[in-house]
Amino acid sequence: MTASSYDVAVVGGGPGGSSTATFLANGGLRVALFEREVFPRFHVGESLMPAVMLLLEQLGAREAVERAGFQVKYGAMFVDEETELSQTFYFLPGQPWPDYSYQVPRADFDTMLLDHARARGVTVYQPATVETAGIDAAGVTVTAATAEAPVVVRARMLVDASGRDGFLASRTGRRARIPNLGKVALFSHFRGADRLTGKEEGNIRIYVFDAGWFWWIPLAGDLTSIGAVVHAKTVRAWTGSPEELYADMIRRCKSVAAGLAHAQRVTPVHRAANFSYANSPVIGDRFVAVGDAIMFVDPIFSGGVYIAMRSGQLAAEAILQAFRDGRFQASRFAAYERRVRRGVAPLFRFIHKYYEPAFFDLFMHPRNYLGVYTAVLNVLSGGSFIKMTWRTRLSLAIFFGLARVHTWLRRRAGLPIESRLEW
Ligand SMILES: Cc1cc2nc3c(=O)[nH]c(=O)nc-3n(C[C@H](O)[C@H](O)[C@H](O)COP(=O)(O)OP(=O)(O)OC[C@H]3O[C@@H](n4cnc5c(N)ncnc54)[C@H](O)[C@@H]3O)c2cc1C
Repeated sequence: MTASSYDVAVVGGGPGGSSTATFLANGGLRVALFEREVFPRFHVGESLMPAVMLLLEQLGAREAVERAGFQVKYGAMFVDEETELSQTFYFLPGQPWPDYSYQVPRADFDTMLLDHARARGVTVYQPATVETAGIDAAGVTVTAATAEAPVVVRARMLVDASGRDGFLASRTGRRARIPNLGKVALFSHFRGADRLTGKEEGNIRIYVFDAGWFWWIPLAGDLTSIGAVVHAKTVRAWTGSPEELYADMIRRCKSVAAGLAHAQRVTPVHRAANFSYANSPVIGDRFVAVGDAIMFVDPIFSGGVYIAMRSGQLAAEAILQAFRDGRFQASRFAAYERRVRRGVAPLFRFIHKYYEPAFFDLFMHPRNYLGVYTAVLNVLSGGSFIKMTWRTRLSLAIFFGLARVHTWLRRRAGLPIESRLEW
């Protein structure tokens, strides 16, 4: 069998894979992308950060997304069911990204991005499941199973954008679970759920309750995505079906139950377990990983799609440079890996801290003391992965410092301080 020849082979056609492929094709490389599923296909992860809009612009796909009729999202509402405290954050104007984003059925959004990659010249094999990728000194040989004969492709670089499958890590590396984030998500779509009006209509809502938290994502066309993120021990203790557990969680979270009182579930209940992990290696001779193939930490701040697309952009920059220099050793991609880790660090710190009552308290009572509020919104919009000014860093340091003082005050007052991650 003769192998077709490309510059880069990409495994996976989610937002990470299609963005990397488009940026590479825009840079003049010949790219082959393999996607296992027929699109449109269901995927979790529907709420986008505003900085996604900047990437869509740079990809040349923003106009098409703006015209697609997705639900606009201007902010996020956090509700503590225990204290009935609620706080809405609106994305700030005057940033390098707009003050809004979209809530998207991923089936449609991912199809648009993959079609856009095709339109930019990427060769898409679909449905085609990559089974082997042999890396040698001169390049990589990729074999994919399709409905007809297997496809063999020869390329000079490989991009692993296979998402949670972690194509390379599961074959040649390892996956480390992240302690205490062993949660289970149960989710589906409803029709006829309560709807806010005006600017609030598209806000994502996060309801924190005793067994975990819910996302409430209003989609266009009267659809609402409702997801329960439940502590693993609640799931272990449950003897019924996942559907019954999901219904029970809805009953236990009164705001969600009230909002769904007249709604109908219109999709099956999907399940994702133990979704927090870090894969290795992230780079190597002639390969880089992007998006969920690197790691995934927790969806509380809706960062996954943005991280996948932004890491795709940075990976493409590193690969284009490697082609210019004609050198593809792992050391060429070390700066890419550092950049990704630095970019996601503030967001991951927020995610871990979010579960601490002292931090959550401050988060729910925001004040723009020394730019703290602006800095928090910068991170929640995806800005920490673009450029962190010294002012933003300082404001975040102040915020985390205040959280430490608050923990100390709570301890003295005999209030709970342990992370909700330990529940
Ligand atoms: C419970 C939960 C809620 C979430 N909520 C949000 C949210 O609100 N907002 C947000 O931004 N993110 C959210 N995320 C995260 C988001 O879903 C992911 O971060 C995002 O999809 C990552 O994109 P990706 O391109 O890296 O991977 P994916 O989107 O998973 O794409 C990988 C693709 O690779 C294909 N593939 C895999 N193996 C092969 C193979 N061997 N050959 C060919 N193709 C292959 C798969 O079919 C898939 O289409 C959530 C995640 C979870 C678990």
